[in-house]
Amino acid sequence: MRHWLGILLITLGLQAQEARIQILGTTDLHGHLLAQETFTLQPANQGWAKVATLIRQQRALNPNTLLVDCGDTLQGEPVNYVRNVLRPDLPEPSIAIMNALGYAAMAVGNHDYDFGLEALRDAERQARFPFLSANTQGPKGKPAFPAYSIVMVAGVRVALVGFTTPRVPVMTEPGNVAGLTFQDLVAAGRTLVPRLREKEKADLVIALVHSGLGTLGGREGDENAALRLADQVPGLDAIFTGHTHQALQTEHKGIPILQALSFGRALAAVDLVLRQEKGHWRVVASTGRLLRPEDATASDPEVLALTLELRAATDRYLDTAATNLQVDLDSRWSRMEDTPVMALLHQVQRQATSAQLSAAACPGTKLYIPKGPTSVRQFYALAPYESRVARIRLTGAQLKLYLEHAARHYAYSWEPELYQRESPFYDFDTVEGVGYALDLGQPAGSRVRNLSYQGRPVTPEQSFTLALSTYRLRGGGGYMAAIGFSGEAEQVTRVSQRNLLLEQVLSRPTLNPVPAGTWRTIPYLDRERVMTLAK
Ligand SMILES: [Zn+2]
Repeated sequence: MRHWLGILLITLGLQAQEARIQILGTTDLHGHLLAQETFTLQPANQGWAKVATLIRQQRALNPNTLLVDCGDTLQGEPVNYVRNVLRPDLPEPSIAIMNALGYAAMAVGNHDYDFGLEALRDAERQARFPFLSANTQGPKGKPAFPAYSIVMVAGVRVALVGFTTPRVPVMTEPGNVAGLTFQDLVAAGRTLVPRLREKEKADLVIALVHSGLGTLGGREGDENAALRLADQVPGLDAIFTGHTHQALQTEHKGIPILQALSFGRALAAVDLVLRQEKGHWRVVASTGRLLRPEDATASDPEVLALTLELRAATDRYLDTAATNLQVDLDSRWSRMEDTPVMALLHQVQRQATSAQLSAAACPGTKLYIPKGPTSVRQFYALAPYESRVARIRLTGAQLKLYLEHAARHYAYSWEPELYQRESPFYDFDTVEGVGYALDLGQPAGSRVRNLSYQGRPVTPEQSFTLALSTYRLRGGGGYMAAIGFSGEAEQVTRVSQRNLLLEQVLSRPTLNPVPAGTWRTIPYLDRERVMTLAK
């Protein structure tokens, strides 16, 4: 029956034409090149080397393939530091790989600004594909990047539209985004997407969004707004997201929404079936899927070859001998007692700023540098970000609020868990230079006990200088909002917190950071419980 109908349609010249298009998306590679952990050198199913193999395999199955990326591509790994600061003569490694793989577009991410706007523009010049952001404006409201790009695949006119989280200014140093403004994603999409349909005659509109899913009840200017985009901007056919480093495979109003984790730990794919009717292509089916590199996934030889020289330079840098440590640096205990690792960070920050006090975040639970000879690699892992150190002036009352904010991240002492589940480790700050205890039997907001400076109780009107990361100063972790600080820093270091730390460990033949031992929790968190329960 079908057979006869087909013949009839051909006879009448009405047979609908069909196209099958595959769109493959990566995100948040953060410079991960190889299938291994940079600091521990342990094998891992991640990085451009493995994800490139998946890309080539998928493209072989369907030649009508478009490749897109959702940003945070240019910063994150020591290769990025070495390339931008020590070896700017070498090509940007991720861009070289994306050129070789034939990427069609990349949305600009917040971390792509971290080495400065000039470094971002340099990468953009090297790319044989556009950097997109429909909601980023330069001086006089001019677009800072193209909003979209039109590509033809299998005779179908595809518009790729890029968006960037509007929270960039609080996520990078102010100088990196001087003169730029970031609009709400939905506001930008609402004016643009209908225009792509009507004026640009796009058959397909695909959004590349450096922003997480967010919620339907989200507000204008929210950091994560992909779901609001799907809900409130008609005319999108698929949304590739990033920024929150999640595995996401969902849909809203029939629009596939995907996110491919981070570091090349996944590849997102959307398969679209289109049918041509009266000269127009119409999507008749769309499905999203996530693919993951496995142990058996080979490393792509071209990725290895393209990055060989930079990787060798980076290894030479990371293997530079540093100080001879007199004590183990073990981060597991840094949220429960004063530790040598935190003492080292505080010492570096106070020395660089001459501040009376220092606030620093705990470096997670996995950092371990045994005493003895060390290398740059080990300390790089302790401070992998590009934030700098600032000195601010605050009152005794604000200092107490700062510590109360840090104390919110602990559970009640009688609860089975030690820490609030939603609190990331990098939001737990400890402060050195004052004595205090955190009473975990009290509700959040009234946990700080016995706050003292040089043996005397701190008074609310007392004035202090405090060293802290510029990430905190820009609002990271909500500390500045919690203490009601909106002033300027008295001083900001010229180099990153990591480089300050490296200066210290490279210049001292031996190092023995001694904890001040001036803070504690009540009751003491015991190590056995931390071992079994810590995230
Ligand atoms: Zn990221």
